[in-house]
Amino acid sequence: MSAVVGRFAPSPSGRLHLGNLACSLLAWLSARSRGGRIVLRIEDLDAERCPRKYADQLEEDLGWLGLFWDEGGSKGGPHEPYYQSECSGIYTESYKKLEAMGLVYPCFCSRSELHAAEAPHASDGRIIYAGTCRKLTAAQRSAKMQQRRPAWRIKVADELIAFTDMHYGRQQANLAHECGDFILRRSDGVYAYQLAVVIDDALMGVNQVVRGCDLLSSTPVQLYLYRLLNLTPPSFCHIPLLTDAAGRRLSKRDGDLEIAALRQHFGSPEPIIGLLAYLAGQLPKPEPLTAAELLLLFRPEKVPLENIVVPQLL
Ligand code: GLU
Repeated sequence: MSAVVGRFAPSPSGRLHLGNLACSLLAWLSARSRGGRIVLRIEDLDAERCPRKYADQLEEDLGWLGLFWDEGGSKGGPHEPYYQSECSGIYTESYKKLEAMGLVYPCFCSRSELHAAEAPHASDGRIIYAGTCRKLTAAQRSAKMQQRRPAWRIKVADELIAFTDMHYGRQQANLAHECGDFILRRSDGVYAYQLAVVIDDALMGVNQVVRGCDLLSSTPVQLYLYRLLNLTPPSFCHIPLLTDAAGRRLSKRDGDLEIAALRQHFGSPEPIIGLLAYLAGQLPKPEPLTAAELLLLFRPEKVPLENIVVPQLL
């Protein structure tokens, strides 16, 4: 077995919140408890929404919490660039391979067409692309090209893609029925997360991905790309999401659970690590401790399967 390489892959569109912190902590614990390394990759594909100042700030926040990484971010390392906004040339190479396989086609559907009431939906509410533009003739395509800049989709296969999640066990999906042909490149030329994350994890040698279970349904999509591009996929470990009392996933809306407010309220990292350790099933009650101390106690099997309700904190 090669040494574990885990990663932090934050999208710096604002300050980190408690949910991001839980994910970073568990990724760190999972890699470090197996003697592994951590890569920091900044997922700023949407460069406008993700200014560098947020990326720099999150490095400061992770360091303050004691969640150190071995390479990546402004620290650099052997797999540069670590900022997705600088990787588009790398993504183009793989994109061209998929194109050469005859799997990529332009999609002219507007937002409202995609969100039309009759659009098929998966059980979790996501829209399944009906394949409208897959069926266009060459003449129809060139006529539409004159009118709007298309997004680019990849054809999926009608087959089951299965994997074993380290936390949730056996998973499977048929992309043709549960997702449809998905976008590889947006109409503004920006590559989609699904493509970028696969190439980055593979090129950066990441072999263990720990992330929120909102991305569980993205994993078969990514495994499909790993296979087509002949890349070795990592192990996946999805973790429950943090929610409010109404079951709503924590987000940037919940400003009081942002790291800035938490730092101000608690003053030091130990009570925040202790709170996260408690929420992640590692402590019977929240008690201050350092990330390094928690590492000695870490038991991945104690992390709950159900989403975690965060109590009123501040
Ligand atoms: N950048 C994504 C996020 O912050 C995570 C993507 C991943 O872990 O694959 O939600």
